[in-house]
Amino acid sequence: MENIDTRILINGNIVSGEAEKTILSSPENNAFIAEVPCASIDQVDAAVDAANMAFPGWKKKSFADRADVLFKFADRIEEKGDLLAKLESINCGKPLQRMLEDEIPAIVDHFRFFAGASRCMSGSASGEYLEGFTSMIRRDPVGVVGQIAPWNYPLMMGAWKIAPALAAGNTVVFKPSECTPLTILALANDIKEIFPPGVLNVVTGKGSVIGKHIAEHDKIQMVSVTGSVGTGKQVLQSATSNIKRTHLELGGKAPVIAFDDCDIPDLVENIKLWGYYNAGQDCTAACRLYVHENIYDEVVEKLTDAVKSIDVNDIGPLISNEQREIVSGFVERAKEVPHLKIVAGGNKIDRGFFYEPTLIVDARQDDEVVQEEIFGPVVTVTRFNDMDQVIEGANDCKYGLASSIWTKDIQKAHKVSSMLQYGVTWINTYFMYASEMPHGGFKMSGYGKDLSMYGLEDYTVVRHIMVKI
Ligand code: NAD
Repeated sequence: MENIDTRILINGNIVSGEAEKTILSSPENNAFIAEVPCASIDQVDAAVDAANMAFPGWKKKSFADRADVLFKFADRIEEKGDLLAKLESINCGKPLQRMLEDEIPAIVDHFRFFAGASRCMSGSASGEYLEGFTSMIRRDPVGVVGQIAPWNYPLMMGAWKIAPALAAGNTVVFKPSECTPLTILALANDIKEIFPPGVLNVVTGKGSVIGKHIAEHDKIQMVSVTGSVGTGKQVLQSATSNIKRTHLELGGKAPVIAFDDCDIPDLVENIKLWGYYNAGQDCTAACRLYVHENIYDEVVEKLTDAVKSIDVNDIGPLISNEQREIVSGFVERAKEVPHLKIVAGGNKIDRGFFYEPTLIVDARQDDEVVQEEIFGPVVTVTRFNDMDQVIEGANDCKYGLASSIWTKDIQKAHKVSSMLQYGVTWINTYFMYASEMPHGGFKMSGYGKDLSMYGLEDYTVVRHIMVKI
């Protein structure tokens, strides 16, 4: 693709990054895509200063005026949807159709949702809690927010961060993943046109340098990161510099519990789709299946056929050779475990960074492939025989992001869902998101919500105002 703009946005000015360049290559065929100059530390400081300068003006705007700006941005993303989809597809290797049908409409909807939602934020009742004094609650923006995004859904994770932060009246310094900066950079000119200078700044660079600098910056009041647990821990440490607020969306290892009264074809179809979607590079991927012993053999047989039938072009490659090596490492170690059987896939594909859709069966609770986030097209299947055992197994995990239950018995589904420690539990379905519903985790999946009014509130501070009457 020609004319890929790799410049960054500071205070409404589009400028080239002044530090070293990152070379992007195609996950599909390893071909050169672009060289992206990273921002220098001075440039990040300038972006932070601009965001601080812009904050009072942006905060002062009415909710309706801020919403107007966000609606315009949503419209622009929609207008440029084809270009953005193509760029993201080139950068990540994602199937273009998935970008066009799944991600772009969702991104547009997230901006529109938060534009409207900010006008509907409600507080608790105000009144006279001490005689002669009226109290009221305000929800005010935090200030300048540093936002750091991952590479698996680059623009969508950007939307999840930027939209609520700006809608709530904060200003932002946003850093995309060094692997996937192209879509947000392609919007730099639109941001410049639509937003007042400094409200939304975009800088590029490595996590260990630019991300760390943002997380440590003493003129940033909050840092929000979506990424791995290791990154989350580092960001937490950096944030101690000025006691920043933190918002962490980290890894996942979703359990999928299939009881013996479930609809087996529907279950199999959903695992085929959502265990391997985006090549499994998804913190909510349906990757850890627990199947009741009465239906275990049938599910394994049908799922094996289903996984073997996946066309890798429909799920795409992994983002990098490094990520493929990580996935391959997990599977190669699994091959050494005598009780594990790899019944589909299990190998790299000799093309770009593709990896075969892989199914590992007869997995046990303590196996590495059951406990650790693989972040690739690998699903495990574990046998269970009673409800308490499967609840214990599902919760025996350092993550707590997504889960699902498959049964026709709604009482059983509710009983189990009430005992799971996961931010979302889907019942007889999977991977369904609504802008109105929260997304976020327990345990090492982090804390803080994306999407929904809860996501918006996370970018505000509750204040008490009292007046003597
Ligand atoms: P990553 O942790 O490598 O990087 C995420 C971002 O953090 C990047 O922009 C990176 O540059 C930056 N970063 C890295 N080190 C940093 C540091 N020390 N200080 C500040 N910033 C730093 O993650 P990734 O590989 O891009 O994404 C995959 C991970 O993200 C997986 O673990 C996945 O589960 C998680 N994820 C979680 C969610 C969720 O909603 N919980 C959504 C998507 C991805």
